[in-house]
Amino acid sequence: MPKFTLNDKEIEFKPGQTIIEAAKENGVSIPHFCWHPKLSISGNCRVCLVEVEKLPKLAIACSTIVTEGMVVHSESEKTLEARNAVMEFLLINHPLDCPICDEAGECKLQDYAYKHSPGESRYVEEKTHKDKRVPLGPRVMFDGDRCISCSRCIRFCDEIAGKPELTFIKRGNNVTISTFPGKQMENKYSMNTIDICPVGALTSRDFRFQARVWDLSSNPSICMGCSRGCNTDVWVRNNEIKRLTPRFNEEVNSYWMCDDGRLNTFKFVNEDTRVDGPHKRKDGQLVNIGWDEALSNCASELKNISNKQIAFIGSAFASCEDNYLFSKFAKEVIGTKNIDFIRHTDEKFGDDLLRKNDITPNTMGAELVGVTPKQDGMNLSSIIKGIENSKIKALFVMEEDVLNLNPELEKSISNLDLLIVISSNFNKTTQFADFVFPAATFAEKNGTYANFEGRVQRIKPAIETTDLDRALDGMQMSRLDKFGTKFDRWAKGNKRDARASWKIISGLSILFDKKLKFKMAENVFDEISKNIEAFSGLDYDVIGDKGSILKLKEITETV
Ligand code: SF4
Ligand code: SF4
Repeated sequence: MPKFTLNDKEIEFKPGQTIIEAAKENGVSIPHFCWHPKLSISGNCRVCLVEVEKLPKLAIACSTIVTEGMVVHSESEKTLEARNAVMEFLLINHPLDCPICDEAGECKLQDYAYKHSPGESRYVEEKTHKDKRVPLGPRVMFDGDRCISCSRCIRFCDEIAGKPELTFIKRGNNVTISTFPGKQMENKYSMNTIDICPVGALTSRDFRFQARVWDLSSNPSICMGCSRGCNTDVWVRNNEIKRLTPRFNEEVNSYWMCDDGRLNTFKFVNEDTRVDGPHKRKDGQLVNIGWDEALSNCASELKNISNKQIAFIGSAFASCEDNYLFSKFAKEVIGTKNIDFIRHTDEKFGDDLLRKNDITPNTMGAELVGVTPKQDGMNLSSIIKGIENSKIKALFVMEEDVLNLNPELEKSISNLDLLIVISSNFNKTTQFADFVFPAATFAEKNGTYANFEGRVQRIKPAIETTDLDRALDGMQMSRLDKFGTKFDRWAKGNKRDARASWKIISGLSILFDKKLKFKMAENVFDEISKNIEAFSGLDYDVIGDKGSILKLKEITETV
């Protein structure tokens, strides 16, 4: 490989690489605003100026191609002087309103200003003011004062989203960005411009002023919105999810995610409709009862029904671990072959960038771990028919709202002898249930999901499921008073006595002859990888934060 010298150190580069790329690959970060690895080069911010020996002037590292033997200094006196000057120019008209800016704490301008600016301004004239709080579309707000005209947002719309929706208008100090007359920025990926805007000029209309970023914790996860399984970070404050942002994974979603996934896949976790503990129907009403009572009552009622008259509906929203134990419970503990799950597709959802028509995160996982009928068992449509003609007397539903999808079933489902539902939120189906068990959501458990191409990826808990009584135990009254309404919200956020579905099923199985005892999700996964060829050789460590490809060739043989 050819070599060049960067800051007195000889390093290798790939032919065609720019200085900024070669430096990055070797762990040297050269400051930049307008450059982004996935966008075309604009070269307008000038903060990446570096000294290249034998060149008459400083060169911008984002567009200068490295050549064999080149000698580059990114921290020399001349470079630092130029960088400070660029920062001073960029800050001339900036409002310096970090204390009220959503970007503070994750702002490149703020970070570089601390590192590379003289710390005070020599500019005493009136700053140029631009429009503030301009909605560019339904999801993104623009603050003209903060914009440094880097053009990343314009290039994103043109080059990644494929929808030219933004442009520069005006000139000189007054230059600003705008949508075209009568148009909005409403492409399905518009909120990625917020992530890549290096300052706080673009903010999320959903997240604005919700929290300071340093008050949030973040955990790696994946999006539940479709079978792409975009890698995400789940941002939490006071045990409540505040936002999702994309997490870089070149194999799955690169730096991006769609706006639907970002906005519509987590709010149910925070909602008041969460199932707050196990419930049993008594005198026509669902009442909250303890776990032991709920599980033993449910097991006794299940034992009273012939296994041929029991059916199971699993879920492509649930993890591989949940579906695996659900299937094992149906087939080995209860001894029924009647098991299937619902496929959710939306022909209008998919596109050529990330979105897939399969709007569930784990269709492939549910299939692989066996949530499909055995030989002469009933599939989904026969189960539905069986409920209608009373051949099925008991139905066990996991993480699905069967009635929402099949409202015509309402009459027949109410005639079932037993309806058991595991669900995170109350829904149409739980209205008719005899037992409702509270399911932990994707943000509250460990588990794995297999995306459309057979990449198995992990989720991890980002928020706690805490028993409210236990949480209140150690709390002094004086603290409660101080918290006031904030405490109400905190308590509500913690009132989630939920368990992962696999754990609920494991608990139920203990009351039968064949027991499915597992301590952790990881142990369930280890059994999956031992028993199902497509998962062989995998464990949680191997999967890591980027996922692993399943042995897809074996899939057809195993399923
Ligand atoms: S709004 Fe942000 S991304 Fe767009 S040009 Fe201004 S600073 Fe750059
Ligand atoms: S493309 Fe699919 S997985 Fe990715 S963010 Fe959108 S809905 Fe979520």
